[in-house]
Amino acid sequence: MKQQNSNNNSSQISAYPAPQRIDFTEFEQRLPWLTLLMDAYLITDQGISESINREEKQGKKLACARGCATCCESHETIPVYPLELMGMYWYATEVLSGELRNMLKAQLHHLDTLQSCPFLIENSCSIHAVRPMACRSFNVFNTPCHKGEDAYYTRRQDVLTPLKKYQDDAWFIMLPFYKIKNKTERRKMIKGGVMHKMAKVMRELNWSALASQMDNFEK
Ligand code: SF4
Ligand code: SF4
Repeated sequence: MKQQNSNNNSSQISAYPAPQRIDFTEFEQRLPWLTLLMDAYLITDQGISESINREEKQGKKLACARGCATCCESHETIPVYPLELMGMYWYATEVLSGELRNMLKAQLHHLDTLQSCPFLIENSCSIHAVRPMACRSFNVFNTPCHKGEDAYYTRRQDVLTPLKKYQDDAWFIMLPFYKIKNKTERRKMIKGGVMHKMAKVMRELNWSALASQMDNFEK
């Protein structure tokens, strides 16, 4: 699933590159919530980048790489939050195009026997620009995960621990979407972890509704 760099998964680097804010200016003028989401994802990515660089200075080597997607198959309980769902719906509906769009739609319409994340297409994330925080944050060092492995349970020492400050900052940016605008209230909520009650399990959601929305958008 991987955070990787902004060009997707490339571990052939010694210093993890600074993440770039993806520019969706045209859409953000119409969709103010998208600015919150993309700003929060930038902070998340910056925190992950700093964590990876710290670990690599200690001698660890990021194992995540382009085309490595075992985690997208084996992780069954990836959390996703309402604002993130907005982003995923929007991106799939209004941004995705061409063959990738057709493949994703077909997959979302027929999820019954799917053994992976609904958005994994040919070993890549079809919604990489708006993949959830959980996906951005899960990174593994030293050895790529083997089929079916969840490294969090098999070798926790190889799994990146995201820096809390950046995670908290990302939530601070996003909470106004949930009508929590007061700064003190936001900090209190973050400290108590209350926002995690809003999490849904990605694979348990009705993604055929998204496929239908994509169909309708094309009419
Ligand atoms: S959204 Fe799905 S395919 Fe994309 S990174 Fe996350 S688990 Fe992988
Ligand atoms: S090493 Fe593991 S966590 Fe990293 S991209 Fe590969 S399967 Fe995913």
